[in-house]
Amino acid sequence: MGFDQRRAASLVALLSILACAPSNGAMAPTAARPVSGDTGAPGIGDPDFPLDGNGGYDVSHYGLELGYTPSSKRLDGVATIKATTTQALSRFDLDLSGLDVSEVTVNEEKAIFSRNGTELGVLPATPLGNKADFTIKVSYSGVPKPIKDSTNLGTFGFVPTPDGAFVACEPDGAKTWYPVNDHPADKAAYDFAITVPDGVTALANGEQVGEPTTADGKTTFRWRERHPMVSYLATATIGKFELRKGRTPGGIPNLAAVDPKHRASLDDLYNISGEVTDYWSKVFGPYPFSSTGGIVDDFSAGYALENQTKPLYGGFEPDQSIIAHELAHQWFGDSVSIKRWRDLWLNEGFATYAEWLWAEHKGTNTADRLFQTFYNRAASEPMWKYPPGRAQPKDLFNDSVYTRGGLTLHALRKAIGDETFFTLLKTWTADHKYGNVTTDEFIALAEKLSGKDLKPLFDAWLFQPTKPAT
Ligand SMILES: [Zn+2]
Repeated sequence: MGFDQRRAASLVALLSILACAPSNGAMAPTAARPVSGDTGAPGIGDPDFPLDGNGGYDVSHYGLELGYTPSSKRLDGVATIKATTTQALSRFDLDLSGLDVSEVTVNEEKAIFSRNGTELGVLPATPLGNKADFTIKVSYSGVPKPIKDSTNLGTFGFVPTPDGAFVACEPDGAKTWYPVNDHPADKAAYDFAITVPDGVTALANGEQVGEPTTADGKTTFRWRERHPMVSYLATATIGKFELRKGRTPGGIPNLAAVDPKHRASLDDLYNISGEVTDYWSKVFGPYPFSSTGGIVDDFSAGYALENQTKPLYGGFEPDQSIIAHELAHQWFGDSVSIKRWRDLWLNEGFATYAEWLWAEHKGTNTADRLFQTFYNRAASEPMWKYPPGRAQPKDLFNDSVYTRGGLTLHALRKAIGDETFFTLLKTWTADHKYGNVTTDEFIALAEKLSGKDLKPLFDAWLFQPTKPAT
């Protein structure tokens, strides 16, 4: 995620209002259940987000058939979820926020289900054994309600707009539009079939499958993301869009889409996204997905999100720096994903450092000068009190996770030299392509490749509430 610099001031004002408001992300604990070894846990095991994701199974594929009517904001969905158990299961949970569920089947047998906060409890007619492949089908409908809370600097999830919907879900807003194991530790492939009124465009991750089909005044758009994807990166952004399609100079399919209000930004979005994708493919290793691009929608989120293959810019025309940031996330965050939220600097520190590398590449600045500028901040500045290696659940997107995360990488680069540093970035993205990682794994790889004891450096930069010495 990145922030529109021009909106930063108003966001700070917004934040102070939001910080005082009750969070509607608050969830009641799940109801007492009969103690059973065959009950999947209501959370995937992230201590900072105890009810996010679920235990007992691993999803491999989501098939989402969605119908959306912008005028009524009504969403009708059928989610077909293919998963494998990691224990015997007589009961398990999915995450779903709001919306009415009409039917749940497991392996085509009707299941009993219950709702409790954002947990959708499922009791299959036939209990599942360990390591069993199974298919869950959930039919649901209603008006999606996005989440508003201060941990994310605003509104996220499925956000209705006058002409459709703006869908950006970090950290845990996927549950506002489909039943999901809503945590980055469980990645899966996706197929989307999104039906909207004629004249409206539906954009999702990956590539379009066939031409849209039209019947009875409605058009169905089909998209497929065959590479593993984190739930918060899934999108079904809907509305009036102007499109430009083609390939990057390096040959990667490229799709830019802009709301007509931002028509003037279409060519820049297309060209810069192509140029950045090709450049990062040289610096970070081969592009991990099958297409690139971006979407500018007219919802003034004040932020951009690195939705897989299609970063989404919320109501502003992105400059080179933020495009460089969001596309760097395709490697850092999207392909190589975090296992738990506290390691978020592995996404945001890297994407922030990519902004500095882009400035260096374009000759407008150097990473070293940018390092000095930020490092010169007074020791009393809040950034030095917040250790970025331990992102805090109530202040996940703190500036420290971004800026001090970026500073950490530059301090590392100076300590191990350019050659080892850039080898490290490429090795990291190759070794963990489509996987999940922790900070400890990054430190171990940096030490292995450099042959140096880097624990003191990482400790000072990532884990101490004070300004490190250089
Ligand atoms: Zn970011």
